[in-house]
This record gives sequence, structure tokens and C-alpha cells, in this order.
Amino acid sequence: MAGEERIVVSVRLRPVNAREAERGDGSEWECAGDTTLMFRGTLPERAMFPTSYTYDRVFSHECGTRQVYEEGARQVALSVLSGINASIFAYGQTSSGKTYTMVGITEYSMSDIYGYIDKHPERDFVLKFSAMEIYNEAVRDLLSPDATPLRLLDDPEKGTVVEKLTEEALRDKGHLLELLAVCEAQRQIGETALNEASSRSHQILRLTVESSAKQFLGRGNSSTLLACVNFVDLAGSERASQTASAGMRLKEGSHINRSLLTLGKVIRQLSKGRNGHIPYRDSKLTRILQSSLGGNARTAIICTMSPAHCHIEQSRNTLLFANCAK
Ligand code: ADP
Ligand code: MG
Repeated sequence: MAGEERIVVSVRLRPVNAREAERGDGSEWECAGDTTLMFRGTLPERAMFPTSYTYDRVFSHECGTRQVYEEGARQVALSVLSGINASIFAYGQTSSGKTYTMVGITEYSMSDIYGYIDKHPERDFVLKFSAMEIYNEAVRDLLSPDATPLRLLDDPEKGTVVEKLTEEALRDKGHLLELLAVCEAQRQIGETALNEASSRSHQILRLTVESSAKQFLGRGNSSTLLACVNFVDLAGSERASQTASAGMRLKEGSHINRSLLTLGKVIRQLSKGRNGHIPYRDSKLTRILQSSLGGNARTAIICTMSPAHCHIEQSRNTLLFANCAK
């Protein structure tokens, strides 16, 4: 992985699943080396597209999540320890493996962060955890049973803050695991109430790390480092695609996901290194993440993909997104 890159883009293929295998769909994509993905299948009639795609890293269906973490996300996640904000995204269509990938990456990151803390007794660390979900542009606290949407406020110093968002000071790693279980339970309550919530909502888990040389903690001296890392499990990318807008689910009303579309625009602008207008303010997701995107911040985008023939169109859309982010 390119060490100092601001945006690191990788693609992960999941294995063919039972449903795909039953329809006779095999894998149509394969990795050629560490950075190139090749299309090996038959093109749908009249479709024309490149058969070779290159990213910072590509992961075959045989790569485990640990490897995806180490080569596609680790450096970005650990920049939080140097006081640099970071965001790690899983992008892809529903059932392509976003949650599978993000759960593992979050755990490995947390382990590494705690490992680092154990090795640096000369510094004091304060870790805080918060978690939220964005559904139809409403922000909900995943650490609170109260489902009232939270407001976003503009703070002159901190930028956009989520009003009343629970922020738990972490005692230890066990405490963190308890909180992750609370989030998961909150999310499931939401899902039974709201049809298809997991494919339409974004989940952001945020870890804030503050550290300083031992005797000075909290006094704002020059050795204090403060940053956060965001683990973002995005809504299914079919929510931002042309097919969805062209009428697949018109009756649903909110078939297009504003946050996902805006994230795409923001990432595109940032990856071009443009200094002009970046539309952070056009969606809740990009407002919340603004200080962890662009500027000095580090970003890892892991695009997850089914290798099966029946998903070729969505896979292509995912690769086009990945191309724009490079
Ligand atoms: P998404 O969050 O994108 O909708 P999931 O992460 O829920 O998709 O994955 C869909 C299913 O595929 C789950 O049952 C998951 O366990 C499985 N899966 C996803 N990626 C992999 C992988 N790389 N290896 C094995 N199973 C996977
Ligand atoms: Mg999911």
C-alpha cells in the first residue's frame, strides 16, 4: 500500500455465494497481481467496458479480512495516533461484503490502537467512542435508546458537531466491545421498524484519541495530540446508481441516497486535488465527516464486490466509483 497517500482505494472480491452458484454463476473477476482486477467473463450483449482495472490494492476472494486491514486500511487507521483524522469506508452494493469487511477492520484497528497504547507508557491516552446512523438524512445516536433525530450544529472551533451525541470515555477494550454490542442492538431495533434499513442507512463508528506526555494531560500543552478515526459502513451503492434513479423503485420515494451521492462528489473532487468548492454541506454524512475528509486527513476506501455474472452492472458501477476516487 502506498504509505503517504491521502486516499487509498482498494477493491475486495467476496466468494461466489450459494444463491449465485445455484443459478450457475461462477466468478467472472480475478486478481492479476496485487493491484489489478481483470474481467474474465462474457460481456452482456452490447455492453462495452474495459477488462482491466488498477487500484492501490485488490483482494481476491481468498484474502481474509486481516490481510485487507493490514494492506488496505491499517496505515490510515493508525494515523489517528499521530493526531491525524482518518476515515475508512466500505462501499459496494448490498450483500457485497461491506459489513463483513468493516466489522473486522474496526476490531483489528482497535486492537492495534490498544497495542500501541500499551507500548507507550510515557504518554497518557483518553479514548472516546461514539456511534451514529444516518437514515433518510436523519442522524440517530446508536448508543442511546432515544431515536429522536440529532441536529448538526456549526461550532466555530470544532466545525460540524452532532448535538447531544453520546460520547463514552472508554475504560478498556472490554468496554469497547460492550458498546459495539449496544450499537448492534440499536441498529437491529431500527431494522425491524424500517424495511431494508441496513441497505439504506450509513453507520459511522467514531473513535477519538487524545494523548499527551504524562504529567500534562488536559492542559492543552504543545505535546497534546487529538484526532478521530471513523469507520463507515455505507448504504448499498445501488442507492446512488443510474438504475435506481431510472425507476427501479420510484414508489419508494427516497430511492436516491443523498449522502451517498454527495460522498461520491466530495471524494471525486478531493482525489483530483482540487482546491475549489467541495460540496461537504450538501449531505449529513459529508458534513459529519468533513474534518476527516480532505485537508490533512487520511482516507481508505474499500470497495466490496460480488464476482458473479448476475451482479455485473452493479460491480461495474462500484469500479467506476473506485476509479473516480483514485
Ligand atoms: P453488505 O453489508 O455489503 O450488505 P455483508 O457484509 O452482510 O454485505 O455480506 C453478505 C453475506 O456475504 C454475509 O453473509 C457475509 O458473511 C458474506 N460475506 C461477505 N464477504 C465475505 C467474504 N469476503 N468471505 C466470506 N463471506 C463473506
Ligand atoms: Mg451491511
